[in-house]
Amino acid sequence: QHGYVGFATLPNQVHRKTVKKGFTFTLIVAGESGLGKSTLINSLFLTDLYKDRKVPNAEERISRTVAIIKHAIGIEEKGIKLRLTIIDTPGFGDAINNTERHVEDYIDQQFEQYFRDESGLNRRNIQDNRVHCCLYFISPFGHGLRPLDVDCMRALHEKVNIIPVLAKADSLTPAEVCRKKMKIREEIKQFGINIYQFPECDSDEDEDFKTQEQILKNSIPFAVIGSNVQVESKGRKFRGRVYPWGVVEVENPAHSDFLLLRNMLVRTHMQDLKDVTREIHYENYRAQCIQNMTR
Ligand code: GDP
Ligand code: MG
Repeated sequence: QHGYVGFATLPNQVHRKTVKKGFTFTLIVAGESGLGKSTLINSLFLTDLYKDRKVPNAEERISRTVAIIKHAIGIEEKGIKLRLTIIDTPGFGDAINNTERHVEDYIDQQFEQYFRDESGLNRRNIQDNRVHCCLYFISPFGHGLRPLDVDCMRALHEKVNIIPVLAKADSLTPAEVCRKKMKIREEIKQFGINIYQFPECDSDEDEDFKTQEQILKNSIPFAVIGSNVQVESKGRKFRGRVYPWGVVEVENPAHSDFLLLRNMLVRTHMQDLKDVTREIHYENYRAQCIQNMTR
């Protein structure tokens, strides 16, 4: 099971035609520097998927991210192809210049490129680099959202599907995680931030599906733990973090929402994230472009 991502159920989400061509999906990370963005995307997708490649000193590999880095990987499971692009960003906080605009600019540039290609002659084979999802990292050490978080998310929410995550959840007790999540959900509402909304369930949807959707909604912001270290304990090997008082398992649902988040991204909601990007965020951008041109 190790390294198995599980996107082979994707065809249930779309038409056959797309299945043949393969899927593409682009994700970006945002939030303060040092909150574990690079570590998490590594835990979520990269390490497992790079496992055939010899990477020296895997534990030390992640250094401070100082520029936007694009990881593109092609993976295949049960004959289904997925081209995953992950955009790692420096985040903000310790940089000299105004880096919190990095993410916004990057997303705009991809829309701009797509708009240009779409208006060009070769419309059939456009490379679609539009960003489908932004994992926004919230510090576990603050009292909910900080003013900068509010500003950043509001600058992004019309352009991309924001999925908020509570970073480094291992530094909080389960009760604290629960309280922080509630506080953050309230603040998101209070400040009018439009995060990604899980689609409303149809009444004819089965009960399991409805329960799962409710669990997802109640988990926002997903409490995550990242690690690039394989821990061996009681005869088992897993990705985790070691502390004097015990070990934290990244993929243990009792310890973090890591699996919930990954399943949601690649198994159940990938197509909806793409649809919303195309039908809402890109349409907004496009309408604005055309409005500006005719002025
Ligand atoms: P980034 O600047 O947001 O990309 O953060 P990094 O991924 O570079 O991580 C910064 C530091 O936090 C590193 O020392 C990581 O080992 C550590 N770190 C990353 N994820 C976690 C986590 O979930 N829990 C804890 N306690 N530390 C973490
Ligand atoms: Mg980083």
